[in-house]
Amino acid sequence: MKIVMLGAPGAGKGTQAKKISAKYGIPHISTGDIFRANIKGQTELGMKAKVFMDQGQLVPDEITIGMLLDRIQEDDCKNGYVLDGFPRTIPQAESLTKALANMGEQIDYAINVDVPDENIISRMSGRRACLKCGQTYHTVYNPPKTENVCDVCGEPLVLRDDDKPETVKKRLDVYHDQTQPLIDYYKKAGVLAEVDGTKDLEAVFQDIVKILGA
Ligand code: ADP
Ligand code: AMP
Repeated sequence: MKIVMLGAPGAGKGTQAKKISAKYGIPHISTGDIFRANIKGQTELGMKAKVFMDQGQLVPDEITIGMLLDRIQEDDCKNGYVLDGFPRTIPQAESLTKALANMGEQIDYAINVDVPDENIISRMSGRRACLKCGQTYHTVYNPPKTENVCDVCGEPLVLRDDDKPETVKKRLDVYHDQTQPLIDYYKKAGVLAEVDGTKDLEAVFQDIVKILGA
């Protein structure tokens, strides 16, 4: 099963992608997590990406597309995957469609997690992230068991630099301009499913399970 998660930054794509990954036994691939791991490891890719991420802009397609297409060739992707944060532009979506078509494959579901902009700023300012394992929490809606400590790996949690309100506003503009058109792209491809992302996170997941099948 090959799934793309669509939605604004902070809509809950990562939260739901992790739950899908655990239930259906397919890897969760987040391009944001891959970039952050590269920034932490101070790789050349990480240093290039950081400049764009800190400004709330997209990392250029020339860097992002190759990185993602390499990742989905890996062994753990044989039975599918859930993509979180990719594609974010029409050229990214077209490259993915083309690469899959060359292998006789296609995306099975594009799930749009719909959350209005008004809710996004509070979601993002409460988000806490583990930069080691990629787990995310919310101070109010999904708190860790111990304040500011990752339940999974025990690392201290951080407020991402790009989750500060000024940057979130920029990211929302970029989303509406470059990423929202993908909803139509996947609708035309006949694989779009929509869920109401304002419900609590378990209710959103139940709606997704209804779409994917138990
Ligand atoms: P995205 O991957 O789309 O950027 P996240 O999954 O990281 O978004 O979610 C953003 C923030 O909102 C996180 O702090 C997360 O814990 C919280 N969150 C996710 N889904 C919900 C929900 N349905 N209700 C309330 N808070 C949520
Ligand atoms: P995320 O963790 O998905 O919120 O992504 C954080 C940041 O990483 C984004 O604001 C972008 O700067 C960058 N990024 C992640 N995925 C992509 C992508 N598919 N294309 C371009 N930039 C991306």
